[in-house]
Amino acid sequence: MGPTPPDPATTSAPTGRQYLLERVGEAAVVQLYADGFRDLPLRDKILVWHLAQASIAGRDIFYDQRYAHNLEMRDVLEAILTRRADVDPATLAAIERYTKLFWINTGPYNNLTARKFVLTCTPDAFAAAARAAARDGARMPLQAGESVEAMLARLRPMFFDPEFESTVTSKTPPPGHDILTASSNNFYVGVTMQDLEGFEERHPLNSRLVKRGSRLEEEVYRIDGRYGAAIAAIVRHLEAAIPYATEPMAKALRALITFYQTGREEDREAYDIAWVQDKASNVDTINGFVEVYLDARSIKGAWEALVFYVNREKTSQIRTIAEHAQWFEDRMPWDAKYRKEGAHGVTANAIDIVVETGESGPITPVGINLPNDQAIRERYGSKSVSLSNVREAYDKSLLAEFREEFAWAAEEAERARQWNAFASELTTNMHEVIGHGSGKVDERLNGNPQAALKEQFSAIEESRADLVALYFLADPAIVAFGLVPEEHHRDIILTEYESYTRNALMQLRRVREGTQIEEDHMRNRQMIVHWLLANTAAIDVRRRDGKTYYVMTDPKAFRAGVGRLLAEVQRIKGEGDYDAARALFETYGVHFDPTLRDEVVARVDRLQLPSYTGFVMPRIEAIRGDSGEITDVEIAYPLDLSAQMLEYSAATRHLRA
Ligand SMILES: [Zn+2]
Repeated sequence: MGPTPPDPATTSAPTGRQYLLERVGEAAVVQLYADGFRDLPLRDKILVWHLAQASIAGRDIFYDQRYAHNLEMRDVLEAILTRRADVDPATLAAIERYTKLFWINTGPYNNLTARKFVLTCTPDAFAAAARAAARDGARMPLQAGESVEAMLARLRPMFFDPEFESTVTSKTPPPGHDILTASSNNFYVGVTMQDLEGFEERHPLNSRLVKRGSRLEEEVYRIDGRYGAAIAAIVRHLEAAIPYATEPMAKALRALITFYQTGREEDREAYDIAWVQDKASNVDTINGFVEVYLDARSIKGAWEALVFYVNREKTSQIRTIAEHAQWFEDRMPWDAKYRKEGAHGVTANAIDIVVETGESGPITPVGINLPNDQAIRERYGSKSVSLSNVREAYDKSLLAEFREEFAWAAEEAERARQWNAFASELTTNMHEVIGHGSGKVDERLNGNPQAALKEQFSAIEESRADLVALYFLADPAIVAFGLVPEEHHRDIILTEYESYTRNALMQLRRVREGTQIEEDHMRNRQMIVHWLLANTAAIDVRRRDGKTYYVMTDPKAFRAGVGRLLAEVQRIKGEGDYDAARALFETYGVHFDPTLRDEVVARVDRLQLPSYTGFVMPRIEAIRGDSGEITDVEIAYPLDLSAQMLEYSAATRHLRA
């Protein structure tokens, strides 16, 4: 099935290459290109291929973590879409639209708002479509002795009721709920925050907690545990990859295999250390239980996988930042006791993604800094990557109107046109390398500020990293380091400060319902701009022709305010000051004026601007010789979200737990 043709009004592909493939509701679908892949030596290509298979093999683990009913729901949707001949066209269009959003968001919850979206056809029309597909030979995920009708009745609230299990991660629960009972993800079953008092998790990152009677049980993700078949498949592909890896990478892969076998915390640490010590390999992978945003407690890791190679041309900037890590650390505008001495081991690369699955795909970050384990970061350093081909695809699929609509003055929009791509890449690199990579916490916290800051931790940490980048962007030293040309430094500072300020307004388009922000990066950006508004003279709120503008008017005051706020945010992290963190976000970061949001939504809707983007990954295929050995690996670009999602699903259907 082909994609619906892209809307010509929103296509911009100056190279003639297709980036924007289609619009689905408020999402854009964009093709990712990995041009450097063809030039890799065969050994690296084969390595990438095996690692890509390992990435696809674990994809369903994240589906299951995000929502317990996700895989069943996906099976029903895919069964209908692949046996569609006799399905009513209007119903089919509604199902197809919903399924694309379901794939992009990995289930029925919007990735930005955490809120549920539902099918827009009627339950009766959906049932008729399922019956038609079943008659046509579609295999439905029926339980023993269950009819198609009974299955549809069972899944009806999941597909149709927006109030049933309405929020995937709720860090600000409604009255009568706590952050676990208000969250519909699958990290906890029947568990309340109160149940956790005095309970010590042995596998905090890689388990699901289930309450059985009065007992709490940790179901561990490992080869003979939860999702054991998928993990065994991952391990087989990792083992096949090892002969093609460099020795440091092979060591990391062996450590990862051990962790997947035992599920033990000390083996996860050994893997993190081996991974961070592999500094020079041209190909690398992230594969495992990594980020903690999906868990309202910020403890449990969502499964993700990425495979990438170093983009040599674009790596020099990020390396320069990393080489001066100690220089920046010594000048952090915070209390000297939180400055790290011997800021070592920050390895930074610009990379091109070949495949991302789990929590990293189809929606992807643009920069990553790992490992998250604070104790390991302080002792062994961290690795930072900037996802160059993702940035390129974002930039090439973006519209000029997007900037113009929210810029107060023509010169602001023109500056953005000229410098935004450069300024945003530089600040993201600084965010990852000297932002997340910097600072230390009080010894009393045992390298684990998460435990003290709980659901506020991720937003505090993202704020800290953003503030470090904003602060040093305006430092003359970055000219001396060769990161920006002197004659353009002022324009680059203005561009970034203006765009950061505009973004607090523009990002409200992503929260179409409710009056509060759940996503941590969004909370952080909202908090910083609103704190600056309240505490400095750097930003003006202006109105013209019924439209609101956030206008950055004083870059010096902006930077001074950023420095003051950064000192406080580092203090909060360093001391694990939960109350201060909560007050900061409650005051400036979580709540917003719905009238202003409605205005922003109306403005972006007039321009048909997307709220977020799902990426179609390159497709790589192994070419085999007579005896089955891989003789070459070819890369292609599917230009079709549905085809890729169906292909991935078919590859893992036999690996369900
Ligand atoms: Zn970050």
